[in-house]
Formats: sequence, C-alpha cells, structure tokens
Amino acid sequence: MLIIANFGGDLIKPIMLFCSDQVLRVKASNKEQINKLQWLETLEHLQLDFWLHPSNPALPVDIRAPFASLQAVKAFLESHHISYSILVEDLQAILDEEKQEMASNRQKERSGSHFNYGAYHTLDSIYEAMDNLAAEYSHLMSKHQIGESYEKRPMYVLKFSTGGSHRPAIWIDAGIHSREWVTQATALWTAQKIASEYGTDPSITSLLDTMDVFLLAVTNPDGYAFTHTKNRMWRKTRSKVAGSSCIGVDPNRNWDAGFGGPGASNNPCSDSYRGPSANSEVEVKTVVDFIKRHGKIKAFLTFHSYSQLLMYPYGYKCTSPADYKELDALGKAAASALASLHGTTYKVGSICSTIYQASGGSIDWSYDYGIKYSFAFELRDTGRYCFLLPASQIIPTAEESWLGLKKILEHVRDHPY
Ligand SMILES: [Zn+2]
Repeated sequence: MLIIANFGGDLIKPIMLFCSDQVLRVKASNKEQINKLQWLETLEHLQLDFWLHPSNPALPVDIRAPFASLQAVKAFLESHHISYSILVEDLQAILDEEKQEMASNRQKERSGSHFNYGAYHTLDSIYEAMDNLAAEYSHLMSKHQIGESYEKRPMYVLKFSTGGSHRPAIWIDAGIHSREWVTQATALWTAQKIASEYGTDPSITSLLDTMDVFLLAVTNPDGYAFTHTKNRMWRKTRSKVAGSSCIGVDPNRNWDAGFGGPGASNNPCSDSYRGPSANSEVEVKTVVDFIKRHGKIKAFLTFHSYSQLLMYPYGYKCTSPADYKELDALGKAAASALASLHGTTYKVGSICSTIYQASGGSIDWSYDYGIKYSFAFELRDTGRYCFLLPASQIIPTAEESWLGLKKILEHVRDHPY
C-alpha cells in the first residue's frame, strides 16, 4: 500500500508502509502441500512476498503477507492442514525500530564519532566511508568506478593490491539483492578488516603479497537507495520492463547460466523475474565485463542473506560440479571456521541441494566461466529477523563470516590453478 507519511520531521514523501503486515513461517509436510504453496505463490492479487520459496518439505517457507491478505492466507493454510507460525507479528514495528536506530547513529556520526560499522547506512554514506578507507590505506587500497547502474548511480569496487602487474585476483560482492542489508554492511566491515590486517595477519599478508582482491559492496545501488527511500523490502533492480507496469529484474536470475530455466520467473511482476534476456541488467553486465576483462579472477564470492548457508554450484541444474569434492570439503572447512567464533551454524551444499533449483545465478555463471572457487554465502539469520537483522548483529555476522571467507582465501592462495 502506498501512503503519504511524515517521517521524523523530514519533508513529506511517499513511502511504503507495512502496518500489520505479518511474516508467516509455513511448514509443509509433504510434496502435495508444497504444490499447494506453489499454487498460492501464483495468486498475484494476494500480493504475497515469498522470502523463502516452497521447494522441499524439509525446508520452511516464509511468506510476508499484507494485512489485506492475511486472513485469506491463513484460511488457505488451515483448510489444507498446512501448519504455520507467525514469525513476525508486526513488520512495521521492526522497520520503525530500524529507522530510529539509523537516525540516532547518524546523529552520533555527525557530532564527530567515527564511522560505525555496526550500523546500517545509506548509499552515500557507504560511498563516503569507502573514500575515507581508501585515503587512510592508500598504500594498499583504491576505489574504482567499474560502471553505473540503470539510474546512473556509480558502481565502485575497492581494489586491494600490494603491487605487481595484473596479479591473479579474488572477487567479492554483496547486495545484489538490495533488501539484504547485512550483506552490504558485512562487505564494508570486511574491507576495513582486510586493510587493517595487512602486515599483521600472516594469512592476509601472504594472500595480498601474491594476489589482488576486488570488493563490490553495493552491487545493486538503485535497489539499495530504494530500500532507504521507498520500500525497505525491495529486492530487484529498478529497470523499466517493456510492456509491463512492474519495475525491476531479479539480478540474481539474470546471469547467463541456464538463463530462463527453472527457479526464475518470466513474469515482470514477480520478485524473481529473470529479465528479458541474460545480462539485460546493466549491473550484472558490468560485473561480467569486469571479470572477463580482468581474465585472472580465481575466486568469485558473493554475499546474500538470510538462511545461514554456504553454497557452491549448481543452481540451474541439480548435478554436481566437476570440482564437487574439493568445493564441498572447502565449504565445510569454511563453515566450521565460521562457527568457531559464535557457534553460528551454516549448512553447506550446492544451491540445488540446499535451497532449490534456481537458474541465472551469479556463481553458476562464474563457475562455468572457469572460476573454480565460486561460493555464495547466505548470512544470518535463520528466520527470527530475516532481512531485518538488527544492527547489533552486523559486527558478529561480519566477524564470523570473515573466518569462513579467510579459509576460502587461504585455500585459493595455496591452490593456484
Ligand atoms: Zn539474495
């Protein structure tokens, strides 16, 4: 619903409110119930937002239902004896809290405090923090514009390099799905971690002595800006789709890897709309061109949330990749390093085996392109806060995933191919 709201004395602007929207956690007990839920997902008039899609009775299905559809959805579930619980009682209350926290952090930062990595920030503020980091660690890192988004926002990578000419490199990105805020925040924290640990942490030091690292913290800047100004739950790009009034493409169904196959929608109004053609989204094309131009990327690592998974290819098909054994063992070692800090458990496996078949995803493209070490992290949590992870969990999330990430980086460093 679109409501004209007045937020904290700001100018009046249209903003999407979610009063009394609820998130339901649904547990199907057999394939028949999964089929019913898949049918429910096709009913556009209910305007349901499936945060976790129905695929396998062993996995939960999370559905955000607008107030107007709640009764209908609950009645549907009850009539088919599908069990559910209420994961989020009042979504707007959590959003309000998040907004308030951001405002008080902004105030602190304005009055002279340092940039707070344990807070959520706007796009401008993230870009400014990148400038400051690049200035502080100018011997080691630099900021480069690799392209611009559909709405002409710059896309910046941070490059970490200790010299050499055109060394092999690691690619890390975050925020391709804009509402997954803990991912952009984790990427930025990771940037300062890499910069500040060079010279003290032996593993980062030896990595950067032979390889470069490229980090794209906000892969979908238009979507991210939109989550701050209009709709916190926005996932897609903001491109216009010919012949439809619906906006945006799911940029992680838009890569040239089994494009158009199962687990992506051809309906422009769907949140998993694959787009008119592979690489139609300039944000995806920009990364593809960068990786191809570079030619020596040895690992492709991407951050999503939520679910606590560490996944390798494939998603567009359910067969194992040629390097299955090595990727699975490395994924498990990374997950156990990650768990060693706060006990957070991650499930490891292929996209198809851990969630569902999904085509057009980035790590399938990178793997098929020849980048053996292609992994996707689904960061915290497993369903208490979902996309609205409290800011107090940013640093613990970033710290633990850093240990998993580092395990992968060390392996790549030690296994040049
Ligand atoms: Zn995602």
